[in-house]
Amino acid sequence: MIGVFALQGAFLEHEKMLATLGAPFKEIRRREHFTDGLDGIILPGGESTVQGKLLREEGLFEPVKEAIEGGLPVFGTCAGLILLAKTLSNDEAVWLGTLDVTVRRNAYGRQLGSFRADIPFAGVGNFPAVFIRAPYVEEAAPEVQKLASFGGKLVAVRQGHMLATAFHPELTSDVRVHEYFLRELVS
Ligand code: GLN
Repeated sequence: MIGVFALQGAFLEHEKMLATLGAPFKEIRRREHFTDGLDGIILPGGESTVQGKLLREEGLFEPVKEAIEGGLPVFGTCAGLILLAKTLSNDEAVWLGTLDVTVRRNAYGRQLGSFRADIPFAGVGNFPAVFIRAPYVEEAAPEVQKLASFGGKLVAVRQGHMLATAFHPELTSDVRVHEYFLRELVS
């Protein structure tokens, strides 16, 4: 059972991916939805500041942070990557801070607000990556696996049970990154 955070942002698209793959999921909006027995969680794209505040307001922040620190598999896309990062280079905030990377928010500037690029993704193959006001990873600890880069910048990483992409695999019809998460991190 995968918990999809449904506080804000593009969570329905993740649900569609999971449904296509036949993986059971539930939405997490409030503390009581975040129950034992989840095999993994997904933090969707959207607005990280809003999502972080909502996690706090709903009393989800500490339980989620502890669960991830305890090894609960997590997949974060875009804003989800920002929530997971230990350091943000252009923002004072640190949210869950479990992933050993430094991330730059809105890193591509106004000219490249959103775009699509085919990029090689380790363990998956060439992937049609959709970037929307995307962050990238500026620095990563040695134990962080580099799964994909674009224009010399790291845009997909894995650290043990944590997977994060700067782009949105859920906004394509290509389920391979979700499949990778379920296969390599959850089961
Ligand atoms: N720019 C957003 C943020 O900083 C992330 C964008 C996205 O999730 N597509 O939170």
